[in-house]
Amino acid sequence: MYETERKDLIDQLKRKGISNQNVLDAMIKVERHLFVPDIMKQHAYDDVALPIGYGQTISQPYTVAFMTQSLDPQPGQKILEIGTGSGYQAAILCKLGTRVFTIERNDKLYNSAFKIFDELGLRIAARCSDGSIGWDEFAPYDGIIVTAGSPGIPKNLMKQLAIGGKMVIPVGDRSIQILKIITKTSDEEFNTNEIPYFAFVPLVGREGWKEK
Ligand code: SAH
Repeated sequence: MYETERKDLIDQLKRKGISNQNVLDAMIKVERHLFVPDIMKQHAYDDVALPIGYGQTISQPYTVAFMTQSLDPQPGQKILEIGTGSGYQAAILCKLGTRVFTIERNDKLYNSAFKIFDELGLRIAARCSDGSIGWDEFAPYDGIIVTAGSPGIPKNLMKQLAIGGKMVIPVGDRSIQILKIITKTSDEEFNTNEIPYFAFVPLVGREGWKEK
């Protein structure tokens, strides 16, 4: 279903500057309409963020593509995602051949993402907890992708990133953020690229925002 719409969306992403063919291929394979509520399905292939309930959103396809392209994950790498939400971003990472670990703090969203991973036969390790402190058990990760806006760079996530690994994280205030692409060069050092401006729902947790 929606094959034409999906192809059109991918063409749009190309026109907007997404050039990594692996990312585009993964986005052709993953059916975004399966990750949104029924009443949103008709908009699943518009390049916009959509509500998924509980005040949360599935990110805009361009944002997913841009973040994934920035992370540039290679097959077999271990990737940690903070903010599973609908599960769409995790599914894209999985299709890229990475070993995906994903954390969601909302138990309802966690349960529905878990269910869809199972239905689609996606082997993804998922957990319901505060992702701002990471997932120590499987560290270090070759890549970390945070899909909620954070007030700063959580120190545990930095610690759990492998040397040579990359973290993509939106940092800013509650409504607008700069996307930081951080490469860890040693235990003490890292390089950062910054791309303005993005708008994510807040990362809420011990090393994120306080609950309102
Ligand atoms: N990657 C998601 C985007 C979800 S929006 C997708 O593809 O659909 C961000 C998600 O981060 C929300 O579901 C929100 O509940 C979750 N979140 C916010 N703070 C969190 C935290 N500290 N730990 C884990 N998840 C968190």
